[in-house]
Amino acid sequence: MKICRFNQDRLGVAVSDTEIRDVTPALSVLPTASYPLPSHDLLIANLPAVRARIEALLPSAPSLTVDSVSLLSPVANPGKIVAAPVNYKKHLEEVLGDADLHHHNQINGIHKAGLFLKATSSLVGIGRGIDQHLLERRTDHEVELVAVIGREARNVAVADALSYVAGYAIGLDMTIRGPEERSFRKSLDTYSVLGPWLVTADEIPNPGVLDMAIRVNGEVRQQTNTSQLILGVPELIAFASSFYTLHPGDILFTGTCEGVAPVHPGDTLLASIERIGSMTVRVQADRDAV
Ligand code: MN
Repeated sequence: MKICRFNQDRLGVAVSDTEIRDVTPALSVLPTASYPLPSHDLLIANLPAVRARIEALLPSAPSLTVDSVSLLSPVANPGKIVAAPVNYKKHLEEVLGDADLHHHNQINGIHKAGLFLKATSSLVGIGRGIDQHLLERRTDHEVELVAVIGREARNVAVADALSYVAGYAIGLDMTIRGPEERSFRKSLDTYSVLGPWLVTADEIPNPGVLDMAIRVNGEVRQQTNTSQLILGVPELIAFASSFYTLHPGDILFTGTCEGVAPVHPGDTLLASIERIGSMTVRVQADRDAV
């Protein structure tokens, strides 16, 4: 099932690449939260119950075209956004060969570097688009497979790790190049794009065999297959959960491949991953950009 959020916090299901059904009443199965809010995403934590209600609603759910709605991030309230640095070998070689890309940062293989976190305030859906900040700096696109955690995960074994995934989406890990910490350079408002929808894990039994690409203004910039990941989704979940507990709704950016390149205001990005779909995201100058 392809679950999306759109317009003013409405819930939808994509039944094709061009059509969604409005199943917002399914949100009524969610428990009422009161202060302090739980440290997980309510929708993802209750996904089986929500899905059951969606199935009941679908036959009579209103139909909309995808083009007529503004898609939000399919996860509204992730507790954290975990991301993998240099997790494709050719991207590691690319970074080491380009002074613009590595500056004074230590670039290590992912086993040494570990994972990093992005601010949850940077997360948007594709309808929002990317507001490019600091125009004198280089901002790059990074297309990534994203896994969304479905249940609490702590010290998970690689062999069990995929059973902790609620679903998958396409992620853009937008990045200002430079010497600062990754978490700082990659956490500007709108610099984490998630979309177009969450494809539930039952539709992607093996996330390690997916073609992935991004085009900028029609030109292919990055193209790979997730079989080229150094640490695949199961290994990343095991690695992350050996350091901190993962909660339902936590977002895992799995890393990008070679071909990262600058974007500019006015650019149109078209990112696609096999079995998930594709998404168009526009880049505009932030209104306070200098
Ligand atoms: Mn990245």
